[in-house]
Order: sequence, then C-alpha cells, then structure tokens
Amino acid sequence: MMNYMQNRSPLSPTAFLDLPLGAIEPLGWLRDQLEIQAEGLSGHLDEFWPDVGPNSGWLGGSGESWERGPYYLDGLLPLAYLLKDERLVAKTQPWIEWTLASQGEDGQFGPRINEDWWSRMIMLKVLMQYAEVTGDRRVAPFMTRYFRYQSAHLRERPLSGWSQARGGENMLGVLWLYNRTGDAFLLDLLDLLHAQSFDWTDIFTHFPFWRPQTAPYDLRAHVVNVAMALKEPALYWLYSGGETGHPQGASLLGIRSLTTYHGQMNGMFSGDEMLAGTHPSQGTELCAVVEYMFTLENLVRILGHDPYADMLEKVAFNALPATITADWRGHQYDQQANQVSCTLAKRNWTANGDESNLFGLEPNYGCCTANMHQGWPKFASHLWMATVDGGLVAISYAPCRVSALVAGGIAAGLLVTTNYPFDEQITITLQLAHPAHFPVKLRIPAWCSAARLAINNRPIDLECAYGEYVTLADTWQDGDRLQLTLPMPVRVERRGQGALGIQRGPLVYVLAVEEGWQKLRGNDPYTDWEVYPASPWNYGLLMDKIKPERSLRVETRPVARQPFVAKDAPVRLVGKGRRISGWTLAMNSADTPPLSPVASEEPLEDITLVPYGSARLRVTELPEVRG
Ligand SMILES: [Zn+2]
Repeated sequence: MMNYMQNRSPLSPTAFLDLPLGAIEPLGWLRDQLEIQAEGLSGHLDEFWPDVGPNSGWLGGSGESWERGPYYLDGLLPLAYLLKDERLVAKTQPWIEWTLASQGEDGQFGPRINEDWWSRMIMLKVLMQYAEVTGDRRVAPFMTRYFRYQSAHLRERPLSGWSQARGGENMLGVLWLYNRTGDAFLLDLLDLLHAQSFDWTDIFTHFPFWRPQTAPYDLRAHVVNVAMALKEPALYWLYSGGETGHPQGASLLGIRSLTTYHGQMNGMFSGDEMLAGTHPSQGTELCAVVEYMFTLENLVRILGHDPYADMLEKVAFNALPATITADWRGHQYDQQANQVSCTLAKRNWTANGDESNLFGLEPNYGCCTANMHQGWPKFASHLWMATVDGGLVAISYAPCRVSALVAGGIAAGLLVTTNYPFDEQITITLQLAHPAHFPVKLRIPAWCSAARLAINNRPIDLECAYGEYVTLADTWQDGDRLQLTLPMPVRVERRGQGALGIQRGPLVYVLAVEEGWQKLRGNDPYTDWEVYPASPWNYGLLMDKIKPERSLRVETRPVARQPFVAKDAPVRLVGKGRRISGWTLAMNSADTPPLSPVASEEPLEDITLVPYGSARLRVTELPEVRG
C-alpha cells in the first residue's frame, strides 16, 4: 500500500506523505507566477549578483561562502524542475556537482573557509529535492557520511548562533535519510541536534515575547528563526513520541501566541528583525514569509489536520506576492500591512535600516534576495500529498496536474482546473488507465461553511464540518469529475483600535493607494524603487456590522497573466467610505488608526478594495466610519 516514503520505526507516522518533487505540475495562474519569477530575479540572479555568481564558494570560488548560494539553490532547483526549464536545470547542476565533490575524507562538505553548520543545513534541503526529482543515488551515501561527521564533531563544536536557532532544518535531513537507510546512529544525531538547539518546545509553550522586542538582539525572538523553528517541536515529536507530554502541540501554541502578540492581517506575524507587535505599520521580513510557508507545509504533512493549510494559503496568496514587484525584478525586506509609502526614510523598525521597505535588489540586507525564490516552487510541490492508505489529499486548490501512485501502486493522474483563490469553483478530473479504488481527501477550509460537491454532476452530501478533510473512497473511473464549490462570504475581523480587516475566502482585501514609482538607484532592470502615494490613503469604511456583504459588492473580471497587480485585480469589493482628515503619518508610516467608529464630515465616496497581494501601497486595517 505504501507508494511513498513513510516514517520508519520507531518514528511516529506522519499524517500525510510528501509527493516527490516533480509529481505536481503547476498550471494556470500558478504556472504563470513560476514563469514570471523565472523571467525575473530567480532565473537571472546568478548573472549579475556576485554573491550567487560564478565566484561563489559553493562553486569553488573565493566569494560568498555561507548561506546565499544554498538559499538561491533551495528555490532555483525546484523552480527549474517544476517548469522543466532546461536553461535553469543547467544552472543548478554545477552547484550540485561541486557540493557532492567537495566532501572530504572526514565527511564534511562545502566551502572550508566557513565551517558553519547552518549553511550546510540549507544545502541538505536542496540535495533532498534534487535526489527526489532525479533519483541520483549519490545523495543518500553523501548525507550518511556527512551525518557521521556531524555525529563525531557536534560535541566539540556545538550548534551556536544561527545554527542553534535553526537545528530543525538539520533534523529534516536526518529524518529523510533515516527513512531511507534505517541507520540507528541517525536517531542519536536527532537527539543531539534537538538538545543543542534552543528549547523551542518550551519557548512556544510558555511564550515569553509578549511585546515588540527591541534590544538587545535575541535570536529566539528573531522573526525568521521563529518562522523556521515552529516546525521543530513537531519534527522532534516524531521521534520522542508522547514521552514528554505533547510537544507537537508546541507548534500550534506558538502560532497562537505569535498571532495574538504579533499577528498581522496578511497571515504573518511581524518582525523587522525582532518580533514587532500587532501594529499594522510594523514590518515583516520576506525571509520569514517564505520560511513560514515551508514550516506550514511541514506541519500539514506531520500533523495533517487544520488549521495549517488555511494558514499556508493566507500567507501564500497575500503576504508573498505583496512584497515582490509584479515583474519579479525587485522585492522588499520588510512589508507593512498599512503600507502607504515605500521611501528611503526612518521608520519604527525594531532593528532595520531606512531602506527596508524599498522595492529593489537587496534593500537593507541581501538574505531575502537569495532566499525569496523558494516561496512559490515549494508551495506548488506541496499542493497535494499522499495518504497512508494509498490515496491523495488536496492541501490547496491552485491549478495543477498531479501524477502519482495510488492504491497498490497504480499510476493515476489528477487534473485540477480552477482560478482559485480568485474563483469559488474547482474541478478535479481523474485520469486513470484502469478503474481503481482509492481515497481522495478534499480540504474544506475553515472559512467555508457551505461547501458543495458534485461527482459527475451528481450532488453529494458533504457530511463533514468545515475546517476538515472530507474523504471520498470510491472506485474511480477515467474521466470522473469532482466539482467542488467553496463559497466565499465576506468576513470582517476586528483589529486594534476597532479597525476592520476584510477577508473573502483565503484573500485579504485592502484599500489600494495609487502608486507613484520612482527609480532611486541601481542598474536596469534590477533597480531600487521608491513608491510614493499618488492618491489619498486615509479612508474609513462604512460597514453593516450584522451583514457585511450588504456593504461590499463583489466584482470579478478575467484573471490576467499577473493577477497580483491592483489595476488587474480579478476580484474587487466595492463599498462606501469617507476620508478621515486627522489620520496622518507618524515616522513616515501610517499612524495608528483612530479609534473606530470615527466621525467624519468628509463626503461619502465609493471605495474599492483589492486583494492584499496586488497592492504595493495599501491600507489593510481600515477604521470604521459612522454613516
Ligand atoms: Zn531576509
């Protein structure tokens, strides 16, 4: 029954099993995103940015020899194989070959000028994806030799600094290899890595960071570390089992605390270096966005049940596209929920510089320039997973084609046709050479209380609550069609000061501010940009509190190649509002929204809201105005 790698004893089973890279082919708007990123920074960064260029230490050169080469490959490699883009595949191979050839007699690999455990953790993640998609048999023995080296040297040279914060990434590789080889020393190495890492189970269970963290620099409150570490308790629980209570719960407790004390409407928690509170003008670093997505993909796999997939979609469809230019030639270091100007100016960051919300090549610091590429590719390769009983499970409904083994090893195809999240309709067509009996699990998001399903046009009674997976176990025929409808009512969340946060389905809706883009510096086409507001932003919304859908009318239009542009937004919500003249800037960001409801003498105007991901200038937390 086991078509895909599952946990070997004594590890606890995971809820779902990863499909290998290459099993899911992105289609439709998601394929467009991957192609746009390949045309932009992802497909060209190595041609002009020295840190991932031919002089990289990870290619045998004397240049950057730490995290940037591995970061770049961790996104470029899955992108290349998902697009089956030979130009990009050819770019990845020299890095793989140099890395495999760099291993010494002792098992250590990588640039010897920098022996940090951390940068090697990233390269292991690259190699695992590479081995899955190519079947290259050199990878597992290579990793065995390296993990023997780690086992021999970690006590004298323990994890410290970034590697102490990020030991969970190392554990991912150890678990992957143990399932393939069953070497017992790997379980001892898991224990050692866990013991030398920060005690994330304790940190997330007894969350100490209730306020914006300013000084001093604390790696336990660093937003990227936290985003990565949220999977560590769940990963270690796979080995420790129930012996120490419920450490798998620490991941969820951590997410809840981060949402309470630092949560933002875009699905992220803030962190402009350190965790920065719930104020909508605080920043969130791009590295944290893509790392949190990868963490959530792992939590879905390990723990299965909601709410991780809902959280993943919220980040992927909102926070990710919003912080990158529509042509993928620039990105921000920090994004703000209420982001009304992106200029070289002092802002209320916990630790970042004045250029942190510019769009460009490497504003503030170049980590995100190297690391941003993994967001869409890893999301695409986790859209569907396998179940332990030979079935397939939908994690997210972006358009794709899945080619996988089901039941006792039968090849099955599954075509997902949809414009979701811009549309409520999803059609899943089965492609089978012969009839086959296997379960298909469909995720019903927690925001959807009225999902409808038909199989070959015959309505099916969905006997499940929302926020769960519905299991359809049947003997499927070629051409069978599952027609899923996920109605998306407008939802209103109350934020600080009683401000309104508007959602519909997995998308967050914002007031788009007209964007005046001004080139600041750099060489075409990868220049740094300031974005000035070209229209007023200080509006409040008129809202029917009982039935918000009465206040906002839904308008739709065809999905453009790049839907994450305000003027081409495929869905918009139209309502009424007024300007609030007293609401102005504070330290170059939108000031705290005035306490709702706000009285305003300004005239009533039409207000159009667009998806968060399409607006580079926006107001996400909108005061409510009186009628
Ligand atoms: Zn970064």
